[in-house]
Parts: sequence; C-alpha cells; structure tokens
Amino acid sequence: MRVVTTIKEVREQVKEWKMQGFSVGFVPTMGYLHEGHQSLIDAAVKQNGRVIVSIFVNPAQFGPTEDLECYPRDLDHDKKLCEEAGAGMIFHPSADTMYDRQASTTIANELLSNALCGKTRPAHFSGVCLVVSKLFHIIAPDRAYFGQKDAQQLVIIKRMVKDLNIDIEIIGCPIIREEDGLAKSSRNIYLSQEERKAATVLYRALQQAKKTLDAGETKAEKIRQQMVDMIQTEPRAVIDYVEVVDQERLMPLINIEEGALLAVAVSFGKARLIDNMMYS
Ligand code: AMP
Repeated sequence: MRVVTTIKEVREQVKEWKMQGFSVGFVPTMGYLHEGHQSLIDAAVKQNGRVIVSIFVNPAQFGPTEDLECYPRDLDHDKKLCEEAGAGMIFHPSADTMYDRQASTTIANELLSNALCGKTRPAHFSGVCLVVSKLFHIIAPDRAYFGQKDAQQLVIIKRMVKDLNIDIEIIGCPIIREEDGLAKSSRNIYLSQEERKAATVLYRALQQAKKTLDAGETKAEKIRQQMVDMIQTEPRAVIDYVEVVDQERLMPLINIEEGALLAVAVSFGKARLIDNMMYS
C-alpha cells in the first residue's frame, strides 16, 4: 500500500491517474479504520478508477480539552484495510504539512455550525471545513465519500461545496453498526465493558422513536422526550443533546411532516458518542 506524506507526491499521483483516464474517489478519515470507513472505501472503489484515503487527525477540529493527543492510531492496520478494500493510495500528512505556521484563512459555516454538536464544540466544524477544503484542493477528486454517521458534517460539507462552487460530487454512505446496533466508531475503543453495553441505548432510543413515528406521532417534542427517557434509563449515559431537527437547516422541529433528523450525542465515561437517524 503506497503511503505518501507530501502534498507534492499526492498531486503528482493524481495528475498521472487523471492523464491515464481514471476518475478519482476520495475518502477523508482520521484513521484507526473500521468497517464504517471500509464501506466508504468500498463505495469509492465501485464508482472510481482510483481511490485515495486520507488519514489525518486534524488538530483544527479538536477543542482544547478534547482527545487530540490520545485519539487512537494504527497505521499498519489502516494500510492493510485500505489494501484489502482496493484503495490506490493513502495520504498521511503531518500537521506541519497541512498547516503553515503563518496561516490565517478560515472557512466557517455561520448557520449550520452552531446547531447540534456545534453548541458544545464551537470550533469543530470550522476545523472540519478548513481541512476538508484543503484536502479537496490538494487532491481534486471527482467524488468524495462521507458517512451519514456524522450527519451534521455531511450536511455542512454538502453546503460548503455548493456555496464555494467546488466541483466535487459528495456521496453520503449509510451508518455501519455493530450487531447490537452500536454505530461503529474509532472512539468506541474508549468504552469499558459496562459502558459498551450501556451505549447500545442510543440505537434502542432511535429505534423506539422510529416505531412511534411509524405509528403516526408527529409532535417532535414527544419523540425527543421519549428518546431522552430511554437514554436516561442507563445511569452511565450523560446526555449532551437529543434533538429532532429538519434535515437541511438542522433547526429544531415542532411537527414532523416532511421527515426529520433525529440526532443524539451522549457520553459514556470518556467516550462522547454520536448517532442519528434520518426519518422520512
Ligand atoms: P472519522 O475517521 O471518524 O473522521 O470518519 C471518517 C469518515 O468515516 C466520516 O465521513 C465518517 O462519517 C465515516 N464513518 C465513521 N464511522 C462510520 C460508520 N459507523 N458508518 C459509516 N460511516 C462512518
């Protein structure tokens, strides 16, 4: 598996592939890859001649008290997974390669970054937008793949490419889960055995909400409260938010008429987990 660390190398490779007539798919990640990431690479391999996976734990999207230093890393495992999934190259830059010390340009989404996760992670999405737009400029892929697991991120990236006229097709991919419903996440490694068990309550709460919606309930607050009640049956769960919002602007809904995004962020010990369901 070819791993390149410089911008020059990745640009040269992409140029060569494009001259050979290959389309290029791109999967941005922070590494410590699992089946969720793999599903994105699989989708990219199906739709493109060549696929690049970036592995970069982006300092700009971590708050000062967050887990930047201890975020899990395992490049050997990631190389194997990328190889087996059929990716053509890994781009694994250092923070110094990505960020010039004098850099002062920012990219922020004023509206969408303040909702949901943005309330407790105020600089997170400007960090995401900055790194993703830089990676888009470096790689210039035809298509880029993002997980529905990070629903707010996907909405913001789609908005960003529209707002900035970036000519890259953004493809959203479904959430991959463990057998008991827990959404796969690199951060699941932080969970103790008891927390791991308790964390299944997120999926159970989303499933219960779906049932209630299927039965005809339209009041968003009823659905939200039902999810809160279920999550609170787990004493280890510390709720950051439980929200029912519209799927494009991420604004809280009163009535659920044309669908909704049910989104939760809950900590179990030192693992802050997010999960969601698009209901339509
Ligand atoms: P991360 O490495 O956590 O930044 O994630 C990189 C990409 O993988 C993002 O687009 C995530 O939404 C996606 N991803 C992470 N976990 C999952 C999952 N369980 N199912 C689908 N996509 C995922």
